[in-house]
Amino acid sequence: MSTKPGYDKNKVILLICDGLGDRPSLGGKTPLQAADTPNIDEISKAGINGLMDVISPGIVPGSDTAHLAILGYDPYKYYPGRGVFEALGADMALHKGDVAFRANFATVDEKMRVIDRRAGRKGSKELAEALNGLEIDGVKIFLKNTTEHRCAVVMEGKNENLSKYVSDVDTHEAGDIVKKCEPLKGKEGEGEKKTAKIVNEFVMRSYEILNGHHVNEERRRRGEPPANIILLRGAGSYEEVPSIKARFGFSAACVAGASLYKGVAKYLGMEVIHVEGTTGRADTNLNNKVEAALHALKAHDFVFLHVKATDSMGHDGDFEGKKNMISRIDKELVARIKDADSYIVITADHSTPVSIKRHSSDPVPVVIKGVGVRKDRVNKFDEFSAASGGLGRISGIDLMPILSDFMGYYKMYGT
Ligand code: ZN
Ligand code: ZN
Repeated sequence: MSTKPGYDKNKVILLICDGLGDRPSLGGKTPLQAADTPNIDEISKAGINGLMDVISPGIVPGSDTAHLAILGYDPYKYYPGRGVFEALGADMALHKGDVAFRANFATVDEKMRVIDRRAGRKGSKELAEALNGLEIDGVKIFLKNTTEHRCAVVMEGKNENLSKYVSDVDTHEAGDIVKKCEPLKGKEGEGEKKTAKIVNEFVMRSYEILNGHHVNEERRRRGEPPANIILLRGAGSYEEVPSIKARFGFSAACVAGASLYKGVAKYLGMEVIHVEGTTGRADTNLNNKVEAALHALKAHDFVFLHVKATDSMGHDGDFEGKKNMISRIDKELVARIKDADSYIVITADHSTPVSIKRHSSDPVPVVIKGVGVRKDRVNKFDEFSAASGGLGRISGIDLMPILSDFMGYYKMYGT
């Protein structure tokens, strides 16, 4: 690397492997310990290592709040609610005061009992179009089908006093009756009541419009479950936040597949690079991602590169799958970025131990390689080795200030 920290400006590639952290299980090892990772370990050897409490010790992070923290935004201050990221990730326009939701096409019977909360994992652009632009009580509602059964919904909120403090309609389980949307406890103001009323009306109207729609008649004829209702959850309220460029001084880009991460990146003013062939599963195209990241590094100072599949395998309790995915990341992705003319940072947004199939608060390993870092004695990248590294134990919110200083975009405190 030719640049000198503090004098010229340096670049960063931040690789976040979703849910990478784990607990020892098979043979007393974590999937990261068991995986074949010569390239990642090379970075570990050359860099400074540590453990990171992404939010704070004992707090189990969601992927959304975790990414905010790692990207330098205190989630307790900046978290707008999941729906906002979903809508931004789906390229929907959002304005101050809009309320956005994650949504699903689902299958219900005439008693509003949920038969399949994912409608056979199959959505429909045509059905989405039949609901898009609906107006209820003077509020316009936009809906977009993203992947499979998933949708994002935006309620246009200007001067409407809409609120994100309303409950989910999604039952989260088949067999239950579709829930009524209600103001959250302790938040029973006019805005919440109005928003809940509109949500309930929208859900009913979605059934009326979708149930007899010819697309669903055809689905029934083929023996497929009709996508005859929209279930909403994860309300979020959009507000503009200062961008990464405004707060830290450098330009940033995001290379990710899933809409949540693209949404977070957009919310923080990053350029979101479109990549073909990303699936969030074992078959995701890592080659296209690495190409996109290296290309983005030419135009940007900071590239956030995200891989989802490690988390998905944690949720599936699939030790072998997670281990193999990590080996693939090492071979197909890290081998190609490790000598880039930039700092290389590898970490996770949280642990997703295969033994418990959910996120946990176990801190995640983090490594920073690049000019000027105080190389420590750690020579393997995993949850145990990292504990003895020179970074010690940091908080997620500390990472961006640390990187900004290495990059030369520091702000001095005092004189
Ligand atoms: Zn995650
Ligand atoms: Zn997860």
